[in-house]
Formats: sequence, structure tokens, C-alpha cells
Amino acid sequence: MAAQGAADIVFLNAQLRTMDVRQPRAQAIAVSGGRIMAIGTDAQILSMVGKQTRVIDAEGRTVLPGFNESHLHLFVGAGELDHLQLLGVSGPDALRDAVQSYAARHPDLPVIVGQGCDYAVLDHPLTRHDLDQILAERPLCLLAADHHTAWANTVALRQADILQGRALGPGNEIVMGADGLATGELREFQAKAPVLALAGTHRIMAGLATGKDPDPYPDAAGFTEDCEIMAAGLAQCARLGLTSLTNMDGNAYTLRILDALRAQGRLTARVKVPFHYTTGSTLADLDIASDMARNFCDDWLSSGFVKLFMDGVVDSGTALMREDYPDRPGWRGAPLWSEDAFTEIATEADRRGLQIAVHAIGDGAVNRVLNGYEAARAANGARDARHRIEHIELIDRADIPRMKALGVTASIQPIHAPGATDFPLQPTMNKIGRARWGDAYLQRSLADAGIPLAFASDWPVADLNPLRGIQSALQRPIYEGTDDERLGLDDILAAYTTGGAYATHSESRKGKLRAGYFADLVVLNGDLEAASPAEIGAMGVDMTLCGGRIVWEQERAFQSRRAGERQSS
Ligand SMILES: [Zn+2]
Repeated sequence: MAAQGAADIVFLNAQLRTMDVRQPRAQAIAVSGGRIMAIGTDAQILSMVGKQTRVIDAEGRTVLPGFNESHLHLFVGAGELDHLQLLGVSGPDALRDAVQSYAARHPDLPVIVGQGCDYAVLDHPLTRHDLDQILAERPLCLLAADHHTAWANTVALRQADILQGRALGPGNEIVMGADGLATGELREFQAKAPVLALAGTHRIMAGLATGKDPDPYPDAAGFTEDCEIMAAGLAQCARLGLTSLTNMDGNAYTLRILDALRAQGRLTARVKVPFHYTTGSTLADLDIASDMARNFCDDWLSSGFVKLFMDGVVDSGTALMREDYPDRPGWRGAPLWSEDAFTEIATEADRRGLQIAVHAIGDGAVNRVLNGYEAARAANGARDARHRIEHIELIDRADIPRMKALGVTASIQPIHAPGATDFPLQPTMNKIGRARWGDAYLQRSLADAGIPLAFASDWPVADLNPLRGIQSALQRPIYEGTDDERLGLDDILAAYTTGGAYATHSESRKGKLRAGYFADLVVLNGDLEAASPAEIGAMGVDMTLCGGRIVWEQERAFQSRRAGERQSS
């Protein structure tokens, strides 16, 4: 192969997993002008080294396409990097210590906000009285890891003016006690919003809360502040090897921030941002989505899709089920949309050429979304829409062939599977009920049915680290009496690379290591295939390239040189 000029960077002595069936493995790779120049043996790639080429000896490390993270909340996660982190905190003493020491270190915060709080952190459902015992004088709000539920203390509820309750939209609830006052449990976004507004985090939440621009719109200083928050989130992504991100909350504001960072040369990943269509939206608001699609449609920043929620989560009983919850006869959860309302939105979004992604956790929600997609196709005709369903924690098996027939991508977060890594089996598995365990958290059944898979973290709901996601997928438990739903490493890597690229209609340019593709790649700090699942989760990333640019490099990870320089001895 004759080189057209010299490479910018070459990696030699590597274990390339290209995710390309034409050439699944190789030893070396050359990058030039933001694209992959060639893949081959060390000898072949050495022929592309010029005087200015950076030559990196990968010393046997695994090189993969950059990870395509298919479902995250970038701005929210970035804004929460400084919050009290409660993942893994269990029991009254540990909770008290964590809250009190964080509060002492942050004397000026208007609200102490914790995240990653386990539903079962105490041996009973959390109330404001529990939190008052930990911190009585300052507002305190703890978010469940899933971000669907929050628990606030009395002073927070009082300052937010919701201690007496408040009427909210469907699916949202300020849980009220027998004394006529709020218990402290806040279910879904509208219930949490008044407390979070006190905390001053409304701008990062706007893409979740309304899909519209923050109100009030920030001044120049506020915008700059938000750019710095976003940059911290992007830096976190680069460190973890994420080169493409599909955001799952969204407004035009998010894209404006990212665009400002691009102008400053600080955009270190390709980001796709939806318009979030909420229960407060009208069909005319889809004009915003169409504008976003027109204004942002290049390979770095894009939109072109609409995100909705169909239901809530299993743990709070807000996921929409086809049968009653085993612990609550007569209750099947809370849909955000009627069948007709969703069908109308899906049909109009589809008619506009927009992709649709819907959070659907319960089997009733998945079914309702598929009905809407089917109706949209019947109305508008079939096209390469690649509509998606997010999460799919429970499915009616009869809906699996329908997903395949409609070309729907399954966006799955392996770390969400209870018992895989960070999330405990209970209360989730009891809420689902043993009779349905065989239809919960499916991976292999979906893959075997030919449904495109895109794996993701749902950060900050779960750990952003894709290596821990891979570990989780490998360790997905076999729930008692059910089939083995685990996938092999190849399929899992595909769902984090080619699968994510396919879900964003960009599989011809990214997701693989192939000549001509974007030079988006990651060098791990070891040999992936020699590692056990737990070791994979503990691995790190030594270098991340996006568009041929090094966006993350672990200090002193590589002995490298410019070919034109003499090697120091
Ligand atoms: Zn999400």
C-alpha cells in the first residue's frame, strides 16, 4: 500500500480490535488529517512514518474504535461532578457521615444535593424526618441513582414551597403523608424541580425539564460558567475513551454551549443532542426540533431527533406494566402519554424526518411505543428512521419480533441490570416479580432476534465508564429460573462501537477502525482479551483520539518520539 504523504501519528505493536469484519485484527494503525490512513502490520505502517510523525509503541495494548456512548445526560452529569456522591453508601451511619462531612466542606451551598442514593439506603423508605435527623437547618436533597426520585428534608420542602404538596402533571408526584404534609419523597422531574431550582441547577436541568431554553436565559457570565461545566463533562468523557456521545436530554441551549466550546477548540467528542418533548410541549414545539436538526447537522454536532419519556422507573412503581405490580394489586404504573397522544407525536416527528428515542422501562411502555412507531410508519411510509427505545427493562416477548420488523434500535444500559455490578437485586427484582424475571434486562434474546443494540451508561444515572459497562454486560446475572442473557465480548464491544454508530446513522464513518473512517480511537492500558470481567472494569484508557486529535493522554503512558528526533538515551 503506497502512502499519500506521511502520517500524523502511528501506533505500532498494538492489538487492534477493529470491529470491521473485513479485517477484525491488526497490529498497527496510521492516522492523518483526522482520518484513519491505514491499518496493517508494523512494517506496512512504518512506511508511512515521516519526519513529523509521532510514533507510538503501544507495547501490546488493546486499541479499539472510540466508544460510542448511546445514552447519557452530558450537561447534567457534568454539573453533578461536584455533588455529594452516594453510590455505594449504605446504612444510617454511613449516610449521616457522608452528608455531614460534605455539608461542612460546602458551607455556602444553598442546597446540599446528593446523588446516587440507593432506594434501600435505610431499612425503610426515606422520609424528610430521616433527613432532618441528619441535617435539619440547611436544605438537603438526595437524588436516587436513577434521578427519577428525590428525597428532601423539611427545610428544603418548606423553602421550595411544596411542604403542603402541589398539583403536578401526570406521572409526577409529591408523596403526601397521613399528616397532610409531604413525606419528603419526590417522584419524577416536576416534583423535584422546585427543590433543584433552589439549588441553582435549573440551567443544567432545562434539557430534562422542558426541552426549551433556560428561563431566565443566562447572561454572558452565566453562559461562560455553563461552558466550563460542559468542558469538565467532556474532559471526563475523553479520559474514559468516549468519542461519540448521544445526549438524552436536550434543547438548543446545550448545542450552543457545545458550539462555543468547538469555536475554542475544546470540543473533544462528537455530540448528538435531541429536542426533549415533554408533557408541557405541543406539536408546534416540534418546530424547535426541526430547527435544531437544520442548524446542527455536521459530524461533530448534530441533532435530528426527539426524546420522550413514556414511563418512569420500576423502583418507584412508575414504570408502565402490562400486568399489576406484584406488591400493589390494581396498579400498573404511570404512563406519560396515552396511546393516541403518543401516536400523534410520533407520527408528526416521523413525518418531519426526525428520529425518535423513547424512555420505556416497563413492558407496557415498550408496547405502547411500538404501537406508536407502527402507526407512524403506516401513516408516513417506511424509511430508514432507526427509531429507538431506551432501557427496555421488561418486555413482552411478543414485542421482540415487532421491534425487529420496525427496525427499532434497543438502547440498553448493561450496568442497570440488577446484580450485574453497581445496582442491587432488590427492591427492583421483587417489584418486577419472579414470574417475569425471564423477560427482564434482556441482551442475548434481543441480539438473537436481529435487533440492533446500542449500549450506554445513562450517566449520571450510572457510571460513565464504558469499561465498567462491558464488565456489567459480561456479568449480567442469570436470574433464578431464567435463560442466560449474557453476550460475548465481541457482541458487547460492537454495541459500544458499531452499534452506537448505526444508531446515529453514521456507521459509514465511525464505529470501526478502517481506512477512511474518522480517526476516533482509544488505547487501553492493557490487553482487554487477557482480562477477566472484573479486571476489564478496573482497566483504564491511556490515550483517546477524536478526529485524529489527542484529547486524552495518560501521563508517561507511552515512550514515543517524532521520527525525525533522535531517541534520547
Ligand atoms: Zn436517561
